[in-house]
Amino acid sequence: MTVVMKSGRNSLRSWAPAAESVRQADLDEINARFEGAHPLDVLEWGFASIDGLVVGTGFQVGGLVNIHMAKQILDRVPVLFLQTGFHFQETLDFRDQLVRDWDLELIETTPTFGPEKQAEVVGPELYRTDPDLCCHLNKVMPLEVALTDRGGWATGVRRDQSPVRGKTEMFERQELTPDLVVWKLNPLAHWTRAQVDEYAAEHDVPRHPLYAKGYASIGCAPCTKPVNSEDERAGRWEGFGKTECGIHGVGGLEGSGHDEEIHAVGHNRTR
Ligand code: SF4
Repeated sequence: MTVVMKSGRNSLRSWAPAAESVRQADLDEINARFEGAHPLDVLEWGFASIDGLVVGTGFQVGGLVNIHMAKQILDRVPVLFLQTGFHFQETLDFRDQLVRDWDLELIETTPTFGPEKQAEVVGPELYRTDPDLCCHLNKVMPLEVALTDRGGWATGVRRDQSPVRGKTEMFERQELTPDLVVWKLNPLAHWTRAQVDEYAAEHDVPRHPLYAKGYASIGCAPCTKPVNSEDERAGRWEGFGKTECGIHGVGGLEGSGHDEEIHAVGHNRTR
């Protein structure tokens, strides 16, 4: 999988080992090397060094800032969108507009079942009864499929978003399954929300229309509410103790005792 970098944009080209062979010492070294670096430099190293690196986004401000920077590095930015089947229409319209206006290469996942079949096979309104399982089926499993042939992905995760994200490193090794390990780059890890907003305003990065309606973080429609809060993750999975969907290695099903259900779902999926 080759990417075309803009001329003069490969000065940081270096070799990155496949993620499964990366040791903690390698991560410590590269995180120390890029300590305080501009996110653009992190992305530039990533695109030059990691085969098939893709920018993950739900078209919120952090992801768009990553994409805007990636546009300065690549002629055409590969963008990964987890299509759960439960997104707001506003998100889908905004996605289409950006793909068109920024000429993005959109890589869109397919949910394990889709809303109707999920309701029939697993249960209606699964997001109300078992959001961990719903996220696993519609986000985590499709992410694993999407990254199977790719060396890694870049996210908009930042340390200041929540205590759970407080130890996020710019360069991480993510074990999606025992057989699938990828690089996970978080170029904005050390930036604050104010820095992200400042970059977006300075560069006229379009804003998801639901921010103007009081949403602080925008995910699937059934699990996202508008809030009056400084807490960016507020308004997600209201009424549950859940703040993460599992794609960032926390808040998922692992160790939750759902192994039998996942196995059963995998069996049903082939029918
Ligand atoms: S955010 Fe809600 S609707 Fe979307 S996958 Fe997770 S539980 Fe399901």
